[in-house]
Amino acid sequence: SVKVPSDIEIAQQAKMLPIAELAKEWDILEDELELYGKYKAKISLDIFKRLQDKEDGKLILVTAINPTPAGEGKSTTSVGLGQALNKIGKKAVIALREPSLGPVFGVKGGAAGGGYAQVVPMEDINLHFTGDMHAITTANNLLSAAIDNHIHQGNQLRIDARQIVWKRVLDMNDRSLRQVVVGLGPKGNGFVREDGFMITVASEVMAVLCLANDLMDLKERFGKMIVAYNMDGDPVTAADLGVHGAMAMLFKDAIKPNLVQTLENTPALIHGGPFANIAHGCNSIMATKLGLKLGEYLITEAGFGADLGAEKFLDIKCRYGGLKPDAVVVVATIRALKMHGGVDKKELGEENLEALDRGFANLEKQVENVRKFGLPVMVAVNRFVTDTEAEIQLLIKKCEEAGVEVALNEVWAKGGEGGIEMAQKLISLVEREESNYKPLYDMEESIPEKVNKIVTEIYGGKGVVFTAAAKKQIKKLEELGLDKLPICMAKTQYSLSDNPKLLGAPKDFEITVREVKVSAGAGFIVCLTGDVMTMPGLPKVPSANRMDIDERGQIIGLF
Ligand code: ADP
Repeated sequence: SVKVPSDIEIAQQAKMLPIAELAKEWDILEDELELYGKYKAKISLDIFKRLQDKEDGKLILVTAINPTPAGEGKSTTSVGLGQALNKIGKKAVIALREPSLGPVFGVKGGAAGGGYAQVVPMEDINLHFTGDMHAITTANNLLSAAIDNHIHQGNQLRIDARQIVWKRVLDMNDRSLRQVVVGLGPKGNGFVREDGFMITVASEVMAVLCLANDLMDLKERFGKMIVAYNMDGDPVTAADLGVHGAMAMLFKDAIKPNLVQTLENTPALIHGGPFANIAHGCNSIMATKLGLKLGEYLITEAGFGADLGAEKFLDIKCRYGGLKPDAVVVVATIRALKMHGGVDKKELGEENLEALDRGFANLEKQVENVRKFGLPVMVAVNRFVTDTEAEIQLLIKKCEEAGVEVALNEVWAKGGEGGIEMAQKLISLVEREESNYKPLYDMEESIPEKVNKIVTEIYGGKGVVFTAAAKKQIKKLEELGLDKLPICMAKTQYSLSDNPKLLGAPKDFEITVREVKVSAGAGFIVCLTGDVMTMPGLPKVPSANRMDIDERGQIIGLF
């Protein structure tokens, strides 16, 4: 049999256009482009002024069923759909999240699409790229340093060292930093206290970057971030410590969206990549808006399944960005649907029509969820080599019976060519059906009302239970007047419920919220339903052990 090349082997064969050339083709002026070598550039936000009267393109969100450990191919589909649209003569731009470097060394696969639907140069994108992560890490840790220094210098703000909620960050999977003690040693080293590290992408600074509309909005949001509470229980913010201006300064370049390209020279804006649990999990508003100005179609994705990623995209990101999506593509794989139908991971290679039939319930629910936001929706079946013809026919038939448009998506194996049917169906969907986008809840509703709507309408559950601790936290946020914000659910991605083992479309379950906290700068309330890991560890044999570089500078083993 023919050996299938790995993602990096395909990426290394790519015929990239110099990015300045690509920019020119896409109406980006030389003065608006800041080159980072030959194949990467940042785009100045001045471009918005020049293009302010230009009509926006169509906004397309790519989301998925509840994922299985394999990943469903949202990035791959987003990239491939952009390639396919361009192939049939539509100007499409892609906007994706920036990968985090830490997980690259752990177990996670590529975060730049896969197969023949990838963004390049993939080594650069996955390694240091244009330094945005560095800016986030530095801004976050400047704030940490300011907190400890403030206490050391007399603690005029009366910060309660037991109630410091701001953590340090690093872009590395390093379990030993989850809980640390800082300030050990002589008096000059400050006060001793417990602290901890999160991975950079979990920082609120990242969420702020992705929800800000411009540099001044970014600075204002930084200023509102709560770092601690004082002895009276009142919040202490970054502005109270006087460092939000310096933090914004560190973003003079990082605020600008990054331009790269796909294997087929489709422009891709890769900017910002917040955690999809304690944050909202989509690329920056600025990149999305820029793509809407540059193309007739802007394809973007949201993390996890539609219950989490799309819900947050539609209730948080679109609200803050004033965005109005035109259609949603729900990615499904036959493998994952069989898992939702009860098949064990080891047996996914075998045909199983009954399991596929049962597991379809998950896809049906996620399609219904998208429709609750008033949006046209279609299904994209991401084809794997193990899928049988009978399985594919059954899935297509089930979609047709359920009244949802469906297309077979072969972009992983064939690039844009494999996405033409999907692209054509998307275009006719957008032309045929009007978007009546509306968020699920009103920001003015109480926290329990908002969460209850998400649980009953989107997850399909009975209702929400708040622990005593969570109730206390809600009361406190109400007293502080910080409760009228959108909700950011932190829940397992594997199930519609908060139990990762409940696959398919479970019913009659309750969701338990055990912690409620505010990200006042980002502008949302995080409701935690289980343990959320904000600093991953490395596995027994990390991916790093397979990576290498040779004397010519050729990278080996990076995906
Ligand atoms: P997601 O965005 O949903 O996490 P990705 O698009 O990043 O998923 O894909 C996850 C992994 O699965 C990648 O390594 C990609 O190469 C692989 N993959 C995606 N689609 C296919 C496919 N049809 N066949 C084989 N592998 C695929």
